[in-house]
Amino acid sequence: MSNHLFDAIRQTLKPDATFIETTSGERWTYGDMLAVSAKIANALVDLGVEPGDRVAVQVEKSAEALMLYLACVRAGAIYLPLNTGYTLTELDYFIGDAEPRLVVCTPRAMDGLTPVAKARGARVETLDDKGGGSLMDLARAKPAEFSDVARGPDDLAAILYTSGTTGRSKGAMLTHDNLLSNAATLRDHWRFTPKDRLIHALPIFHTHGLFVASNVIMLSGASMYFMPKFDADEALRQMPASTAMMGVPTFYTRLVQHPGLTREAARNMRLFISGSAPLLAETHRQFETMTGHPILERYGMTETNMNTSNPYDGDRIAGTVGFPLPGVSLRVTDPETGKPVEDGETGMIEVKGPNVFKGYWRMPEKTASEFRSDGFFITGDLGKIDERGYVHIVGRGKDLVISGGYNIYPKEVESEIDQIDGVMESAVIGVAHPDFGEGVTAVVVPNTGASLTERSILDHLNDRLAKYKQPKKVLFVDELPRNTMGKVQKNVLRDAYAGLYQ
Ligand code: ATP
Ligand code: MG
Repeated sequence: MSNHLFDAIRQTLKPDATFIETTSGERWTYGDMLAVSAKIANALVDLGVEPGDRVAVQVEKSAEALMLYLACVRAGAIYLPLNTGYTLTELDYFIGDAEPRLVVCTPRAMDGLTPVAKARGARVETLDDKGGGSLMDLARAKPAEFSDVARGPDDLAAILYTSGTTGRSKGAMLTHDNLLSNAATLRDHWRFTPKDRLIHALPIFHTHGLFVASNVIMLSGASMYFMPKFDADEALRQMPASTAMMGVPTFYTRLVQHPGLTREAARNMRLFISGSAPLLAETHRQFETMTGHPILERYGMTETNMNTSNPYDGDRIAGTVGFPLPGVSLRVTDPETGKPVEDGETGMIEVKGPNVFKGYWRMPEKTASEFRSDGFFITGDLGKIDERGYVHIVGRGKDLVISGGYNIYPKEVESEIDQIDGVMESAVIGVAHPDFGEGVTAVVVPNTGASLTERSILDHLNDRLAKYKQPKKVLFVDELPRNTMGKVQKNVLRDAYAGLYQ
């Protein structure tokens, strides 16, 4: 038998071709990748990691960290990356939940993490951001060949915890074929070839930077420029030598504020992709005006990999996430009854396809409740399909506001507010209200120097939105709370303003 995911990567690669370049000037070829991932895989076996074991990893972004992911795939282990921002208390939950055989952390975290890991029966090794640490010391002495462990399409390759935007993170079990099929689809859809060089400034503990970016690049035999984190100056410096970038919306909102973003600066680039959170339509327009490139927005989630994408050829429409990807079925249903809604109506987005995960780790009941009997996964995102077939995300089911018995989709109100001169962005939330159940509440970030008042916002909305959709209160803040993926944390806002109408 073969190793489903790694065989596909192996068949594509040319050993002399560049795989990764780093900000410190290192260059990794695909041959280096094969050798180092083999050494680490040998080290994992030595450390007692067996096929099916989890390897939990909380380390800084580095080429070596990516090699550790590949080593796990090759050794038949289940890679379990953890957000570098998690605290010890959070790690205790994840390690307790996942029961890894091995925990790999930064040398800095070693002392704190050791008792937590030991208590759960896991070993601890280290990996630093320069490619050093106890794991790499062990790996260095190992052979640069490894006989990949047999893994079929349905075997688990990774458990990825969701971003925790709406509650406690859940471990999504992803199989070899979930990852491989989606990466192959995206490569073809976005036309990646060995000539591409991707600006990679995303974290690699999340599906976007790890699977969408890295797996697509490997399956194309292309290369990537690894930045520890996003930096607009550095991204602009890299553009003349690169062809593509994948980013979260904040990368783009920062770029459009940079005077260096011009047609000339982006002349060698062929594709800018955005996802993980909604891209403001205004940013999309500004970016296109400044560079001539319409950003390609796509939609996915940890559990499903990517579901939809705007077209490569054809109109990339601001504020939409495009069409279902080849092989992905997508439908919109009534959240209560589960019956498909009429075309153009808003409802729950459900998806099915080879990209959809196997279930939540050790949460059989939750898994069962999120799947329909015909195999569709209930995403939790509300959306609609327009007359041209483009999918629009309206917001999360959990963020729906119900006021006076009416459903209010926050996105509709936010889009109106965002068009007001002087508004940078907004978040509309429901806050407990004695008369209405929930009161529509707008949290607005003004542009610097703008003079906005609650009155001016409400006046603008007065003849644009039905009365029940209009905010009961408008609050001004300097910035919206966001998690590391740039997602607005509406639960944080709801908590902060919980007593507003009491
Ligand atoms: P949790 O499930 O733990 O609350 P999360 O849903 O934010 O966290 P992820 O899997 O990282 O965790 O994010 C997937 C979600 O991100 C989607 O369900 C959707 O709400 C949002 N999303 C992704 N891409 C887009 C996009 N292009 N436009 C709007 N929303 C998007
Ligand atoms: Mg989610």
